[in-house]
Amino acid sequence: MIGFFIAGIVIFSIVIIVCIFLLIRMSSQETQFMEVSNRYLKDIGKSYNKDTYAMAIYELYKEVMDGVQNERYEFLRDVLSDDIYNSYLRGIKVSKDHQVKNIVADMKPVFSKLISLIVKGDMEIAKVWIRVSFLEYAIDTTPLTEEQKQVVKGDRIVGGSKTNRLEREYILTLVKNHTPKESIACPACGHVTNVVLHNQCTRCGSGIANRRYHWVIIGKEEKPLSR
Ligand SMILES: [Zn+2]
Repeated sequence: MIGFFIAGIVIFSIVIIVCIFLLIRMSSQETQFMEVSNRYLKDIGKSYNKDTYAMAIYELYKEVMDGVQNERYEFLRDVLSDDIYNSYLRGIKVSKDHQVKNIVADMKPVFSKLISLIVKGDMEIAKVWIRVSFLEYAIDTTPLTEEQKQVVKGDRIVGGSKTNRLEREYILTLVKNHTPKESIACPACGHVTNVVLHNQCTRCGSGIANRRYHWVIIGKEEKPLSR
């Protein structure tokens, strides 16, 4: 009789421990996202694997940061939704009004993971979780007098740091039109380029895919840094 009692207590304790363990796991998953599998990508007809895709999107993001800094408006308009494009535009204008230039330099990927890719009717929607490491600082762009030019050497840094690296995590949401074929022959030179990773011909640089047929960033959500 007492044996059953002890066995009951042991089983009850095990159940409690397992429940606590599962709860902890579930809550920690809030900041962890599952990557899609290469098997899944193959099943929906993709010619690339998750790492190739995720790294291409990181490169796109890095290019956007460069585009904002160097005011490549045409490029930005091509790869960003109107909302995101306008918010970057406002940022550039505010900086200019304050005669400050924001610099993001030496960006490196900590990771880039494809966490969702859905084909829905004639749309494809992807989510990529990226963590980037970079330097960020602001430079005073007020024009200098001839006299000041003799004295001031180098950048006039008014914020941030040229040495302390920052890290940020984002969930990027991207869309494109669904196309059965993801490779396009260049109208200029005939070279075939995969438009998932490139909007331009990889041989001659001609534009080969219009906005509907390459990935456009429509969402950028900052996340707290994961462990
Ligand atoms: Zn070409």
